Amino acid sequence: MTRIVSIGECMIEMAPLDSAGTYRMGFAGDTFNTAWYLAKLLEDRAQVDYFTAVGTDPVSDQMLAFLNSENIRTASILRRPDRTLGMYMIQLQDGERSFSYWREQSAARTLAQSPHDLTNALQGADIAYFSGITLAILSDWDRRTLMRSLQLFSACGGEIVFDPNLRPKLWPDMDKMRHAIMDAACLSDIVLPSHEDEATWFGDASPLDTAERYAKEGACTVIVKNGPGEILMLDDRAISHFLPNPVANVVDTTAAGDSFNAGFLASRIAGKSVEHSVETAAKLAARVVSSRGALVADAVQPSNLRI
Ligand code: AMP
Repeated sequence: MTRIVSIGECMIEMAPLDSAGTYRMGFAGDTFNTAWYLAKLLEDRAQVDYFTAVGTDPVSDQMLAFLNSENIRTASILRRPDRTLGMYMIQLQDGERSFSYWREQSAARTLAQSPHDLTNALQGADIAYFSGITLAILSDWDRRTLMRSLQLFSACGGEIVFDPNLRPKLWPDMDKMRHAIMDAACLSDIVLPSHEDEATWFGDASPLDTAERYAKEGACTVIVKNGPGEILMLDDRAISHFLPNPVANVVDTTAAGDSFNAGFLASRIAGKSVEHSVETAAKLAARVVSSRGALVADAVQPSNLRI
């Protein structure tokens, strides 16, 4: 059975239910969203672990209970008595969503303080998954600790999968972000960037530029997502394309990339080709952008998607 460890931050999500100020509390975060979709898609074919740090307060307990109920293992998650979960609130104004964050002191920011904790979390895993947001929430020192642990994991035969998920607001400056992202790409076997972000922050003129920049660092497979546009696959130096079916009614693009990554990885783990896996990933993401929210249970019903 394949064992995947997803590393990052899962936050409290406060989503508006009406205009009278009623909010629903949930849990979400990029690497967690991917873990959630992976667990749903692979069921008993894989073991999905989430690695982060949380508090020791009731809301942290509630998050762990939620993860466990969704078949995501929490055994290596760290507990910090002096911290709690980060949180974000979604606000709707004239149909447009905006986000406010409280995450500067979140427990997850301490997830990479000890190489021992990271080694323990990655012990026996086949795949480590992380993102540019995972890197952005860490101090310089802790980011180096995470990089060294992943290097060791890779040297022992582990596969590393990375979504650059560029979020400039989380970084003190752009150079630091670009360096950290490219350092992470150096360690990664599979990189899953989104072209629009890469064009904005790395100046790539085309999806091929994005793919080649990451492949030059050593990634064997680069899948460049591009919203509704053509997806570019660079696998073992061979280039191919896939155009997703148009989605008539895009409701909410939250977690489009996260669900895409899970669809792609689940399909690869099930032994399917890169081309087939991209098609599966795009099908899943299309369903996710057709519904509100990050975690769309309908999208992973076996009647809607087969891995
Ligand atoms: P992105 O991270 O925005 O490039 O989106 C990730 C994936 O979600 C894309 O590769 C598509 O498969 C899917 N996706 C995102 N936006 C749309 C859209 N407007 N229409 C159809 N598919 C989409």
